[in-house]
Amino acid sequence: MIKTKDIIDEYDKRIRQISKEVTFPLDEKTKKVINDSLEMLRFSQIEEKAKKYDLRPGMGLSLIQLGIAKRIFVICYEIEEGKFEEYIVINPKILRESEEMIYVEEGEGCLSINRPIDGIVPRNARIKVEYYDMDGNKITKRFREELSIVFQHEYDHLNGMLFYDRIDKKNPYKNKDIYRAI
Ligand code: ZN
Repeated sequence: MIKTKDIIDEYDKRIRQISKEVTFPLDEKTKKVINDSLEMLRFSQIEEKAKKYDLRPGMGLSLIQLGIAKRIFVICYEIEEGKFEEYIVINPKILRESEEMIYVEEGEGCLSINRPIDGIVPRNARIKVEYYDMDGNKITKRFREELSIVFQHEYDHLNGMLFYDRIDKKNPYKNKDIYRAI
C-alpha cells in the first residue's frame, strides 16, 4: 500500500522531470503501482480509512509523484457518497479544449504540495482526450468541470509542471470575474 511518505513533494527535483511514454504490455510492477495508487486515493476519500492510514484526501496521482517518470496517472472521483469512478490514464493527449475557463474556488490542492497557495489556476471547462488503459486499449473521452480540472492537473505533472506555475505571479486573482468558479 502507498503511504504519504512515498509521495515526493515540490522540493524534490524529480517532480520537475518530464515523464516518458509507456510501451505495452505493462510490467507487473507498474500494474501494481497503478492499482496501489488507486486504492490509496480511494482510501484517502473514505474518512475512517484516511484516519487509519494518515492520508490527505486526493482525487488524482501521477506516477512521477512516486518518483516514477512514466506517463501514467490515476483519478478516483466520488460520484456520490461512497461510490467512486476510477480512471487509469496512460500516454494521454488532450485533443480539444473549450474556450470557457474555470477554476476551483477554494484553490487547487496537490498531494505533493503541503502548504496553502492562494490564487486562480485557470483550466479549460471541457476537454476531449485520448489515452490508453492498462491493457493498451485506446480510449477517447470527454471530461467536464471537476474531472476536467483533475485531468489537466495530472497531465501537467507528466510535463513537470505544478499547479501554482499557472497562477499569475503579479496578480494571483487575475481574471477572477471572467473565469467561472466551481
Ligand atoms: Zn498534483
